Amino acid sequence: MRRQPLPRQVDARKLTSTDVEISGCQPVSDFPRFAAGLCDNGGEVDVKLHFFRDDSSIHRLSASLATRVSVVCQRCMQGMPIDIRSEFELGIVWTEAQAKALPRELDSVILGEEPLELLPLIEDELIIETPFTNFHPVGECQPAGPVAYGEEQPETAEERDNPFAVLKDLKSSD
Ligand SMILES: [Zn+2]
Repeated sequence: MRRQPLPRQVDARKLTSTDVEISGCQPVSDFPRFAAGLCDNGGEVDVKLHFFRDDSSIHRLSASLATRVSVVCQRCMQGMPIDIRSEFELGIVWTEAQAKALPRELDSVILGEEPLELLPLIEDELIIETPFTNFHPVGECQPAGPVAYGEEQPETAEERDNPFAVLKDLKSSD
């Protein structure tokens, strides 16, 4: 199984004409606009791209993306993992007129004389698919405040359960 990064640019006309599939594994850090909305830029995006011409001779790109990234929970402001998956189809054209001639439901990318830049195309889709606000399931938020000591806080728990501490609280509230 190939786990290599994608080519940055491709000759889309050549790929669609020969019917080519490209798959790759791209670090999230290669998508800075997408990573800016995340908790960190760790992880990778699995990408599958299929370039082909359909029965109407339309040049098409059929893409599928999958990644697991960490976003910020808006309730506790800690990281939480989410899965992002997307499948989309684009018509590849070289002029505005060709774009207008595409079936209405098919989004287009107009290339002109330029090669097709793969990363911005994928990044736009990742951004569209990222929810604006994210929350842990109820009851699964991380404790607020300093978490530097993480799991090692037995003393705090004992204090809370200590009956004398409760008595102390009752007295002081009198
Ligand atoms: Zn949370």
